[in-house]
Amino acid sequence: MDRVISISLGEVVLKGLNRKYFENKLIDNIKRVLKGLGDFKIYKEQGKIYIEGVENEEEIAINRLTKIFGIIYVSPCIRTSTELEDIKKASICLLNEKVKDENGIVTFKVNTTRSDKRYPLISPEISRIVGAAILDNINNVKVDVVSPMINVYIDIKENAYIYIEKFKSRGGLPIGTNGKGLLLLSGGIDSPVAGYMMAKRGVEIDCLHFHSYPFTSQRAEEKVIKLAEELSIYTGPLRVFSVNLLNIQKAINENCPEDQMTILSRRFMMRIGERIAQDNEYDCLITGENLGQVASQTIESINVIEKAVDTTILRPLIGFDKTDIVKMAVEIETYETSILPYEDCCTVFLPKHPLTRPKLKDILDAEKSLDIESLIDEALENKKIHYIK
Ligand code: ATP
Ligand code: MG
Repeated sequence: MDRVISISLGEVVLKGLNRKYFENKLIDNIKRVLKGLGDFKIYKEQGKIYIEGVENEEEIAINRLTKIFGIIYVSPCIRTSTELEDIKKASICLLNEKVKDENGIVTFKVNTTRSDKRYPLISPEISRIVGAAILDNINNVKVDVVSPMINVYIDIKENAYIYIEKFKSRGGLPIGTNGKGLLLLSGGIDSPVAGYMMAKRGVEIDCLHFHSYPFTSQRAEEKVIKLAEELSIYTGPLRVFSVNLLNIQKAINENCPEDQMTILSRRFMMRIGERIAQDNEYDCLITGENLGQVASQTIESINVIEKAVDTTILRPLIGFDKTDIVKMAVEIETYETSILPYEDCCTVFLPKHPLTRPKLKDILDAEKSLDIESLIDEALENKKIHYIK
């Protein structure tokens, strides 16, 4: 009897001929999060992935495994031979651990699945025999097949796996199976959630942040690094490109109508994002834009902003209500950092009455007075890169 951890795959199982590719990416990601937890081994057996050799760090391993994408459940199991006597022993042992702290009667149900159809007994028979053995060996337990307090699961494959706990993981697709994206990360609530959502669809993420130092503070920048660290729990190591937008904002302020400030600076953000994407082979930009939330997010504004670049822009939050975005931010644990009260670069030169229905022609006219390429070159020359492990 060995203790192992079983991994139930999410959508990966639907991937047909590509399944191997998705599974291998997932295994790479599992190895990355378990690094440092000793000499473990990962193997596949009939549709599931198993990890052996982490029994001393089981809790930490499970905690980390429930934060990576491509997995729906993680279970600590006992692995035995497929001999019925071994399966009984393991089931009794696991259930005993669970009921010893309970007062009163504990109800249970045995659930068997059998991938090996050559096994001499059918699943309901196995469940019945193991259930009877449990009743003979543990006091204060009773069978309840409708709503049991505890489910005992038995998976019969090349080995038998017995478990009673299923920890829910994140679903989605393994990171790295859907290209690379550059997330425009502000210090707000929305953009970390947007990054999380695209990472969940398998996109490998790095971040781009704009500040207006010294108009915005060092602490505002540290807050964004902290958000990136919180995001990296799900995405793995990432880079944060940090670009000072102040000279661009000053040039806009001196040369263009005041009410166009927000739209014009957003177009610069996209262009700078596109340049970094081209130089580093990102497939797309990702933003936390959300239709109608603020002046720069009306459909007219979004149209005019995205015309600045050719690169695909993904906006996973476009149709969500703010309350739902806040709920997600709380769930992924970025919310508390997002609401720290440090100023954002967009508050510098904030127009009193920002345009909500910009016309592309007016914006293009205003941009004629700016030397766009050299402003971008200068901003990029001074960019910094933070590496988050
Ligand atoms: P957030 O909560 O993500 O800041 P928001 O509701 O404040 O979003 P906006 O300020 O209009 O919305 O920003 C829309 C999107 O533009 C952000 O989600 C982010 O992707 C990008 N963005 C805005 N400001 C910055 C910045 N300073 N650095 C990087 N990206 C930014
Ligand atoms: Mg913002």
